[in-house]
Amino acid sequence: MTTTNPKPTTTDAGIPVESDEHSLTVGPNGPILLQDHYLIEQMAQFNRERIPERQPHAKGGGAFGRFEVTKDVSEYTKAAVFQPNTKTDLVIRFSTVAGERGSPDTWRDPRGFAIKFYTTEGNYDMVGNNTPIFFVKDPLKFQHFIRSQKRRANNNLRDHDMQWDFWTLSPESAHQVTWLMGDRGIPRTWRHMNGYSSHTYMWVNAKGQKFWVKYHFKTDQGIEFFTQDEADQMAAIDTDYHQRDLYEHIAKGDHPSWTLNMQIMPFEDAKTYRFNPFDLTKVWPHGDYPLIEVGRMTLDRNVTDYHTEMEQAAFQPNNLVPGIGPSPDKMLLARLFSYADAHRARLGVNYQQIPVNTPQVPVHSYSKEGAMRYHNVSDPVYAPNSYGGPKADTARYGEPAGWHADGDMVRAAYTPHAEDDDWRQPGTMVREVLDDAARGRLVDNIVGHLLNGVTEPILVRAFEYWRNVDKDLGDRVEQGVRAKQSEKDPKAAEQTNPARSAAQSKA
Ligand code: NDP
Repeated sequence: MTTTNPKPTTTDAGIPVESDEHSLTVGPNGPILLQDHYLIEQMAQFNRERIPERQPHAKGGGAFGRFEVTKDVSEYTKAAVFQPNTKTDLVIRFSTVAGERGSPDTWRDPRGFAIKFYTTEGNYDMVGNNTPIFFVKDPLKFQHFIRSQKRRANNNLRDHDMQWDFWTLSPESAHQVTWLMGDRGIPRTWRHMNGYSSHTYMWVNAKGQKFWVKYHFKTDQGIEFFTQDEADQMAAIDTDYHQRDLYEHIAKGDHPSWTLNMQIMPFEDAKTYRFNPFDLTKVWPHGDYPLIEVGRMTLDRNVTDYHTEMEQAAFQPNNLVPGIGPSPDKMLLARLFSYADAHRARLGVNYQQIPVNTPQVPVHSYSKEGAMRYHNVSDPVYAPNSYGGPKADTARYGEPAGWHADGDMVRAAYTPHAEDDDWRQPGTMVREVLDDAARGRLVDNIVGHLLNGVTEPILVRAFEYWRNVDKDLGDRVEQGVRAKQSEKDPKAAEQTNPARSAAQSKA
């Protein structure tokens, strides 16, 4: 946009600058003078423009919006954000997991679905995904899982061999890998995918009664996906397709929305439920715990400065408000620490004073000093004190959203529930949720992925992995891989599968 009366350029200190085009030199041909403090400020600032990208979920974008409660769920939670007729401002960030900041939006990957609700009781963050499950269930494996999806040490390349090595040695990944290799592994746009808390959380009502809950944000635009070919083409044409799509739709007034539904489990059911309800690799079948509508999220405002409002947005699942608590999901319990820690490392200890992270309620904390502190601190700087400083309202907020726990200190898997094996739920998805066409695309996607650099011993393990999910699926994957191998190199395919070749030559 041009204007006939622009504002005068200044330095960061507000001092009017002499020129936008010429540095200060001795004569027109130089040398350049050190006292050109504006030139030096420009160069120094430029060198420091990038902050560390997120590890993982580096590539993403989002918008601002609001959440409106449409149904009365006050019998399950006292959280202000979910009381009847409440409207709450929010910011959301969508992302891919493994790619770096410049990577294509349409790579096959789960998508982050992180929301910060600016509630009247402080910020409530739900750091979800577009999938109801995850690859691992113990946080000790999380860092290893992410490294297996990122880059090798020697050639700095992503590597399917390392991905399948990790997955096939981690059978608990089967449900999420089935999901990932299916149609929902590449959403058409961020507007056309669901969001899930994935984790189980606790809701507590005004009487102190507790419930286990899972969040399902169902897209009102309908689910749409890209096939692998469509996604590959889009990655070549427009790396930022998902970000562009969201921005342009909001800019033209086409505001996407999602309906929030909850699955709610009575507190006592957890012990005897047929699946461990806190295992992040499992869903709660809808037939057991049907969806209960709560409200609608609408995105209606684009960011105006991506860096300050999105790159510096800091979501953390430990931001839980009264009426909402964690569950014994080990992955969640570790994330309660690791997200805030990542923000301290990436943005600095006072990251919650960056405007996008600032709550819409007054903050009366005893945190003090640290790099880039912006808000003033006043005395007294300690508690308890006799000088009128903030005082915890234990009578009102003192009851923690918790559960009874005891036992020896161990390093062990969860105590199993009746139907808790790793293969059952992905098998149900393959056999009962997907139709023939979707199953066919699942096979093709797996075969294509496996043919991209996966070595023979791991290929054999992968065929077994898929047979464990579903015998027919595993057989079709093996046939697909072997057929493509023999098209490419008939001799090598014979060596990798002599039994099959012998059978074929007999026939
Ligand atoms: P339902 O038939 O009630 O639900 C199946 C659900 O699968 C659908 O509601 C839909 O979830 C989801 N779905 C449909 N197509 C795909 C796809 N291509 N990829 C991934 N998910 C898809 O059965 P159950 O609740 O008994 O679950 C059966 C299986 O469905 C589970 O083992 C699980 O693998 C899968 N699933 C279950 C979910 C749950 O929370 N119960 C959620 C998602 C998948 P949505 O309605 O959320 O769009």
